[in-house]
Amino acid sequence: MMCNKCGRELITKNEIPGTGFVTCNVEWGYPSAKDGETHTFTLCEDCYDQIVREFQIPVDRKERIELI
Ligand SMILES: [Zn+2]
Repeated sequence: MMCNKCGRELITKNEIPGTGFVTCNVEWGYPSAKDGETHTFTLCEDCYDQIVREFQIPVDRKERIELI
């Protein structure tokens, strides 16, 4: 799996990723010009941070309690 923004490889076979990453699945619907399309992309943590840093309104952040 690779980061769509910087092209960095995130997971090679049977390896633990060296960084956090997120896979986004965007289902466009009416009234988008992309109505009916599903877009999927992956971002590494660095690229994610770069993008959200440009937000005028910061991301909604919640602490999560990890369930084991
Ligand atoms: Zn990246």
